[in-house]
Amino acid sequence: MTTDAGATIEAIYADVLRRNPAEREFHQAVREVLGSLAPVLARHPEYAELKTVERICEPERQIIFRVPWTDDRGEVQIDRGFRVEFNSALGPYKGGLRFHPSVYLGIVKFLGFEQVFKNALTGMPIGGGKGGSDFDPKGRSDAEVMRFCQSFMTELYRHLGEHTDVPAGDIGVGGREIGYLFGQYKRITNRYESGVLTGKGLTWGGARVRTEATGYGAAFFASEMLAARGTSLEGRTVVVSGSGNVALYAVEKVTQRGGRVLACSDSNGYVVDEAGLDLQVLKQVKEVERGRVSDYAARVPTARHVAGGSVWDVPCEVAIPSATQNEIDAARAAALVRGGCVAVSEGANMPCTPEAVAVFQDAGVAFGPGKAANAGGVATSALEMQQNASRDSWSFEHTEARLQQIMHDIHARCAEAAEEYGAPGDLVLGANAAGFIRVAEAMHAHGIV
Ligand code: GLU
Repeated sequence: MTTDAGATIEAIYADVLRRNPAEREFHQAVREVLGSLAPVLARHPEYAELKTVERICEPERQIIFRVPWTDDRGEVQIDRGFRVEFNSALGPYKGGLRFHPSVYLGIVKFLGFEQVFKNALTGMPIGGGKGGSDFDPKGRSDAEVMRFCQSFMTELYRHLGEHTDVPAGDIGVGGREIGYLFGQYKRITNRYESGVLTGKGLTWGGARVRTEATGYGAAFFASEMLAARGTSLEGRTVVVSGSGNVALYAVEKVTQRGGRVLACSDSNGYVVDEAGLDLQVLKQVKEVERGRVSDYAARVPTARHVAGGSVWDVPCEVAIPSATQNEIDAARAAALVRGGCVAVSEGANMPCTPEAVAVFQDAGVAFGPGKAANAGGVATSALEMQQNASRDSWSFEHTEARLQQIMHDIHARCAEAAEEYGAPGDLVLGANAAGFIRVAEAMHAHGIV
């Protein structure tokens, strides 16, 4: 029976390739989910009959728009804006905006597709979407970033709403950008609609722990995987790639839990500090000065900066890749395994290539896929929406306790689904199966839409 399901899946994938040419990352994300669905389809023939998988692979709506703005020298700049509203079976479209020169439709679709299942896994009432622009914020002044955000929102606002589509941040979009975007939305619509964006500032509708949530969540997920194997983060050596929002707060939570974070990175190279990264210095460099990890090395005597190269050359017991997609390939995964790595918790979206995932799984490394391990960010966005809807504001402790429980539940859902579909311990299969089923069931209730 699995063979039939396998053939159906191959045909669906061939169609996705044909209809979405040259969108490499989207193909990879679809392939990864479809690779888990054969046992699910075998047990649920109605999904094949109603073309549920085919419908899930097709975004409900894709918006592409021009974003013109003027830089500080008076030169006109033209960037491209995207919002892919992928699936609204479980709630309003929800997912971040990425501002990075690599952004094109294939990246936004891969992220939107992942987001659908990630959001489903949180158990919260949020659909999936993603957006962004090929705008490069690097080296841009505050005024330029503001003008860009205002132009971006001048088109996007008509597609948004607290019950329709609720963006947040991603790479290149943090509190500053969300502020400019919110200001322009409010101005155009004449509505103080707090729930239209998440990741807001704490004085104007934001939620405590949202900034920390993705990184904390990835560390909590690592703890859950280790606990399932009767161990913990205590005394472990850890490497976290990246040095953005996700990385910083993964470092913080790992350190609080007794782990020692040896290294983190940026696009110029990485910094190693055998004493364990000093979070205060790192936060000062990254959050206050918007500097580089080399500035950290210049200030901390136990640290050294390695220009170029990969942070994954640093051996560790726990890896939390929190930079970007496809940063760990098979060779890097094999090196990590040789270096004694026992757990990988994906803080970024799809940071490990499919070949790398296979290397980890074959070696018996506990592997937490991004759509489970980094779901803490969007889950806390959903908590922000709850607070906005009730005009309430929760304490840090209460919100963090909710986040911790959510990460525990996501791990449990993935582990149970893995068991149920014949692959105990395979959290990739578990995450895909559990996320898919939750979305599919809601779609069935709504008819052929
Ligand atoms: N960009 C984050 C993610 O990849 C957060 C999205 C959100 O909070 O809506 O899940």
